[in-house]
Amino acid sequence: MGAGFGAAPIGKCSTKLAPVKRSTQVSRGHVPPVERATIHPYVDATPGPIYYQRFAHPVGLEAERVLGELEGGRALLFPSGSGATAALALALLGPGARLAIADGGYWGTVGLLSGELSRWGLEVTTFDQTGPPPEADLVWLEPCANPLLTFPDLHSSIADAHRAGARVVVDNTVLSPLLLRPLEHGADFVLHSGTKVLAGHHDALIGVVACAREEDRTRLAAFRTASGIVAAPDAAWLMLRGIKTLAVRVERQSASALELARRLAAHPRVERVRYPGLGDPVAARYVDAFGPLLSFDVAGAEEAAKVEKSLRLIENATSLGGVASTLEARARWEGSRVPPGLLRLSVGLEDVEDLWSDLAQALEA
Ligand code: PLP
Repeated sequence: MGAGFGAAPIGKCSTKLAPVKRSTQVSRGHVPPVERATIHPYVDATPGPIYYQRFAHPVGLEAERVLGELEGGRALLFPSGSGATAALALALLGPGARLAIADGGYWGTVGLLSGELSRWGLEVTTFDQTGPPPEADLVWLEPCANPLLTFPDLHSSIADAHRAGARVVVDNTVLSPLLLRPLEHGADFVLHSGTKVLAGHHDALIGVVACAREEDRTRLAAFRTASGIVAAPDAAWLMLRGIKTLAVRVERQSASALELARRLAAHPRVERVRYPGLGDPVAARYVDAFGPLLSFDVAGAEEAAKVEKSLRLIENATSLGGVASTLEARARWEGSRVPPGLLRLSVGLEDVEDLWSDLAQALEA
């Protein structure tokens, strides 16, 4: 095993987390029981706030309270990040609505909105989020875009979008509310694949939308109930459980990712490292730490496959934000949208020296 985390040369990578008022209940370790009942009896022949699971369930309400507090808005759960994306689009947009989505962000979001949902009359364009957004009804930003790691100037992009009459969604999956709270920068909605950093253990599929305004929450909640696009209690419970360790995970994963990004940038087999922590001046205005996700480019598809096959500790698997590090060549999913040698790495909680040894031996293989 490599040197302990504290002994590794990462002393300068300390992170400052956003001043979130953390729920005392969560920090004390409170997680409500997993209540799987789909029905709850009426009281005096009157339905209470919880009576049928498609409308609301106890553990979901608690998770929404905690997420609302963390993001500074009104949160709703969905069965996955993609379910949350579908619900947002279907509940808030109509035929002919124009959507502008950050290029280089999650390919599934672009695929869902420009593929599946374009059949319902949505007009989707993609744009470089490091510049101003084009005219649209809904602008979709993704700071630390997955997998190209671009970072928008949130204040000016959101102000431009609002001036042109658009509303703005910020996908905050990669950074989490511990590092960035987009509603404070004027966003109308924050979206999460809670499957990733929030739940944090690769064992729960869940999504979240936090709304700035109560009327949007009400509209989305009505759509969710009618459509049945609802999160199950077990996944909500696992996310609540994960949130108890969110701060320590985010801090350590960000510090390790920064250290690995620096070392990768100096490696002769690595052509380019994409990580806002390596000097992106816009990102540095908004966050003090840069999260677990980075990408690096090797010469081509063959070299990327060699790295994937040579890993011993890091899992050659998809997804991000879990306690176990994962790495994969994204071209297998995204095709020409990304360079053939682009490897996406999500840094977990393993010892940073062990992670570096694994990357170094895989790059030399
Ligand atoms: N947003 C981002 C940034 C993602 O990385 C993902 C999944 O990888 C999603 C949304 C979709 O989330 P889910 O897989 O929970 O549907």
